[in-house]
Amino acid sequence: MKIKVALINLGERLDIDLRRLSEKLNSLQESFQFGVGRRISAASMGNPDIKDKWYRTSTLLQQLPDPGRESADYVVGLTHVKISRAGDGLYFSHSDLQGRSVVSLNPSLTKFAGPLTDVEQYAAYLTMCELLINAAGADPSHTLPDRCLFDDCANREDVAPGIEAGQICSVCTAALEKHGVSKQTIDDARAVLVWCRTRPLLKALKFAATNPISLLADGALIGWLASFVGSKYLPAALGIWLLVHLASLDNAKRPRS
Ligand SMILES: [Zn+2]
Repeated sequence: MKIKVALINLGERLDIDLRRLSEKLNSLQESFQFGVGRRISAASMGNPDIKDKWYRTSTLLQQLPDPGRESADYVVGLTHVKISRAGDGLYFSHSDLQGRSVVSLNPSLTKFAGPLTDVEQYAAYLTMCELLINAAGADPSHTLPDRCLFDDCANREDVAPGIEAGQICSVCTAALEKHGVSKQTIDDARAVLVWCRTRPLLKALKFAATNPISLLADGALIGWLASFVGSKYLPAALGIWLLVHLASLDNAKRPRS
């Protein structure tokens, strides 16, 4: 039986279409059945309750409906507002371990996802993280970053390498299984992570054309190239990489006036 998940527009000011996102997620895997729940208006959220700028995650989690009311096992509230657990910095996402999660798509957080990750991929990445935490009823997050879905990202910049790697480390896999999450469910979450790190060709090319040097420097293009390994497009991607590489060398050699 599939695990039912209701995605909820928390605040009604999202830049993404949740129906489209749920259809995409359903097309990628079999364990979870995503749908869209009833939206929650910005007015009913009230004002930010931490320093007048951040919403406390526990407050927002309480505003989300009981999963049963949405005929779901889990609800995930996606919101445009900035969230924090207790004023201890901005949070990407948080769960109550009782089936409810909140994910912030505020631009001050999505900017850490890297230039080639779109907001839907960022949202899917964090949604899968919170769903597995809820399915386990325990949070396996680790402070030592190792490019795992469960890096706690105390350094917000750790989220981009995590999305690029798209993996769940062996320690977290064992912890999830120990808490009763099936291997199939974990593998299906991994299938979503593969999509989260997939770079649309046009977007990658556009970025490469405008940022050849910085792109080579931070390795994003290498990551993009790696996503073609095993695909029939690898030779074409290698050709593009070579062109961009030569263009960046040429740019680097030019004297600045
Ligand atoms: Zn891990």
